[in-house]
Amino acid sequence: MAASHKEMTTVLEKNFGYTSFRPNQEEVIEAILNDRDVFVLMPTGGGKSLCYQIPALMKDGTAVVVSPLISLMKDQVDSLVSNGISAAYLNSTLSESESADVKNRLLSGDLRILYVAPERLMMSSMLSLLKRTKISLFAIDEAHCVSEWGHDFRPEYRKLSELRDKFPGVCIAALTATATERVRRDIVHVLRLQDPVIKISSFNRPNLSYQIVEKKDVMEQLEGYIKKNRSKSGIIYCQSRDAVEKLAARLNKLGFSALPYHAGLSDEKRARHQDKFIHDDVDIIVATVAFGMGIDKPDVRFVIHYDLPKNLESYYQETGRGGRDGLECECILFFSRGDWHKIRFLIEKKPSKKERDLAFQQLSQIISYCESTDCRRNVLLRYFGEDIKESCNNCDSCFHPRTKVDNTAEAQLILECVKQSGQYFGMSHIVDILYGSKTQKIKDKRHDKLPIHGAGKHLSKNDWKRIGNELIQSGYLSVSGERYPIVKLNPSSRKILAGELTVELTEAPISRISKGRTV
Ligand code: ADP
Ligand code: ZN
Repeated sequence: MAASHKEMTTVLEKNFGYTSFRPNQEEVIEAILNDRDVFVLMPTGGGKSLCYQIPALMKDGTAVVVSPLISLMKDQVDSLVSNGISAAYLNSTLSESESADVKNRLLSGDLRILYVAPERLMMSSMLSLLKRTKISLFAIDEAHCVSEWGHDFRPEYRKLSELRDKFPGVCIAALTATATERVRRDIVHVLRLQDPVIKISSFNRPNLSYQIVEKKDVMEQLEGYIKKNRSKSGIIYCQSRDAVEKLAARLNKLGFSALPYHAGLSDEKRARHQDKFIHDDVDIIVATVAFGMGIDKPDVRFVIHYDLPKNLESYYQETGRGGRDGLECECILFFSRGDWHKIRFLIEKKPSKKERDLAFQQLSQIISYCESTDCRRNVLLRYFGEDIKESCNNCDSCFHPRTKVDNTAEAQLILECVKQSGQYFGMSHIVDILYGSKTQKIKDKRHDKLPIHGAGKHLSKNDWKRIGNELIQSGYLSVSGERYPIVKLNPSSRKILAGELTVELTEAPISRISKGRTV
């Protein structure tokens, strides 16, 4: 079926009241109308829903939409129905008679769009019901849930791989806001998409400013910031429920308006806190990662990470809840290497090696994001496969391009230490040696007997780690090993040791939050 631009725009206007398409929407719609499989990667808020809702209105039959979030299903259906579109959902919240009613409507061909939870869709009774219906398309929302490499793997999504065989003629649209190259390939593979049309939208959110702040007295830093931004809406993410409760209580004591949100609260309480936040009855929500999936509050003006996020994808998603209205939102991450160790400890407790390896890999990515001196936005977008050259002028690295200082002497000490200890260790052990620590590992390896042991007492361990990390990032030192990165000398390292190459590195980072381009 070939549909013209005009036909599609008419449906858009008539049913949704919008006058033009967002980037990629039209191409996706056209592909689905042509019965092609599609893979759509669009940032949250990018307008994925219309990509399948419009074809659902233009094609014969019922579009079946798989969505993992029961609460969102109802919202989506309500809003479609209020636009005069015949839509319904099937999930565990419906009574038996309500379900029966939806099924009848499905069989009678009355439904344009049916939302179904994945576990329900793959039940044999449901499949046989669908067999008796004309299906216009399958839309798999939050498609990254099929992948174990994503941050939100759901086993019930795996079964969706059977759709292709069970409904060979029906096109499948996979949509997600989070997918690295690997997850992307996984989605196409698991859902068995055939020669899919792939549309990837930019993940850039220019109105979000990204700032990494060295965590010192974090409470004081936070308080100062919130004071200056009183009565603005904001989200503060913490790692644990306990931290959430404590911080929320503390903020209230200081006279700010804040509520906690985490999975340990009753459903009723969570819903109430979320509601109050959305309706501006409270300014700040202090939350674990349990908060946010599907939150559509337009005017969140700051998103603060009190602790290190689990990985770059979560960070992107969590910060992405700010500035939905297109206006400015400050995203501030408090970073300290101490957090790194806390997370390492948590990861070590994971039962499967595969999970641990993945978590370690993701941890090292977020750490190197925090320690990078590049434009934050560029680092982030590069992670999502976008190659951007210009600096953004809206992140701490761009606000305060840090001056470079001659660190040749420090570099030589680190490299010499790597050399003397035999190129078998990670950066933190190297730093321990330099710093003159007497850890068990140092004693066991007799590294306290090395001439270099204690040669770097004049700087803090954090300084050494920072310098070491930048040496790696700048290619003056190499890393190998997956889980425990081992640092090794390379030709540049040898030149530095031989005094043939000088090393300029970035000055120590700032620890206060400050906006604007002048320090
Ligand atoms: P996603 O599922 O990608 O997070 P949604 O489909 O929920 O995004 O869309 C986000 C918002 O953008 C919604 O309020 C939607 O109505 C709006 N929107 C989507 N497409 C358009 C468009 N072409 N023009 C104007 N607004 C749009
Ligand atoms: Zn920047």
